[in-house]
Amino acid sequence: MHDFRPRPPTLAGRARRPYGTIGRGAPRSRWYGWYWFAAAGVVAVLFVAALAAFRPGQPGVAGVTAIIHDSAPAAAPIATTAVIGHSLEGRPIEATSIGAGATLVLIGGLHAGPEAVSVDVVDDLREDYVSGDRELLGGVELVFIPAANPDGLAAGTRVNAAGVDLNRNWPTGDWSAEAIHTGEVVSGGTAPLSEPETRALHDYLVDLRPALVLSVHGFGGVVDDNEVGRASELAARWAEAAGFEHIEEWTEYEISGQLIDALAGEGIPAADIELAEGDTRPTATAREALEAVLEALAAR
Ligand SMILES: [Zn+2]
Repeated sequence: MHDFRPRPPTLAGRARRPYGTIGRGAPRSRWYGWYWFAAAGVVAVLFVAALAAFRPGQPGVAGVTAIIHDSAPAAAPIATTAVIGHSLEGRPIEATSIGAGATLVLIGGLHAGPEAVSVDVVDDLREDYVSGDRELLGGVELVFIPAANPDGLAAGTRVNAAGVDLNRNWPTGDWSAEAIHTGEVVSGGTAPLSEPETRALHDYLVDLRPALVLSVHGFGGVVDDNEVGRASELAARWAEAAGFEHIEEWTEYEISGQLIDALAGEGIPAADIELAEGDTRPTATAREALEAVLEALAAR
C-alpha cells in the first residue's frame, strides 16, 4: 500500500530515459506504469461522462445548455412574487412583479370559472417574462395577478365564495347591491369593497399607482378603457394588435361598481380586455398585443 505512491522523476532519470520510449533494455521505473494508469483513468471518466450525456430520455449536451440558459438568463430581471391578500376561503392572491419603471398590471380571473381562460393567458404571459423567454423593455415594470378570484376558480363559478360578482363590488358612483350580468341579477356585495378579494386588489393598486391596469375577461373580442391618462391610446394599441374592437362603452347591459370605473376615480388608467371567443391561441394573441402596448409605454 505505502509503495504505490509515485516519487517525482529526477532530472537525472529523465535525461537517462526519454519520455514514452519502450526500448529493449531501457530501464522501466515504477513511473512508467503510473502514467498508463492515469491515462486509463482519464479515458474511463470521459467514457462515463459521454454515457451520461447521451443516455436516451435524459438531457444531453444541448439539454444541459438549455437548462443553464433557463435558470440564469444573462439579462433577465429578477421576478418577485408577493401575496397581496387572501380570498374569503383563505386562498392567497399573488402578484408577480418584474422590471422597473412605468408599471403595467395584468389581472386575470376576476370572473374565474367561466372565464378561466383569462387566468391561463395572464399566467402564460407571466411565464414568458419570468423564464426569460421574452425580454422586458427597459423603463417598464410588469405585474401579473393571474387569479384574482381563487375561490371562484376552485369552485368553477363566476362569483366568489360569498356569491358576489367581483367586477360589481367596486366603489363607484353607480355601485348597487343588485347588479346585472347578461340580463340576470348578480350580487354587487353588501357594500363597495365588501369582499376581501376586491379590498386586496383595490389597496394594492391604489398604493402602486400603475401607468395602466388591464383586467382580462372573456368573451367579446373588445377593449373598453376608462379614459384616464393614456388609457385610450394604450387600449387602442391592444385592440389593433389583437384584432379586437376598441369600444367607447359596454352597451349590452348596465355594469355597476366595476373595477375600471373605480380606478378612474383614483386617476389610474385602466381597461377591460374581453378575449375573443373561439380564438384557439388566446395567449399568442395576447402576447402580440401586450408587446404593442409595452412598446408604446416604454417609448415615453
Ligand atoms: Zn368577466
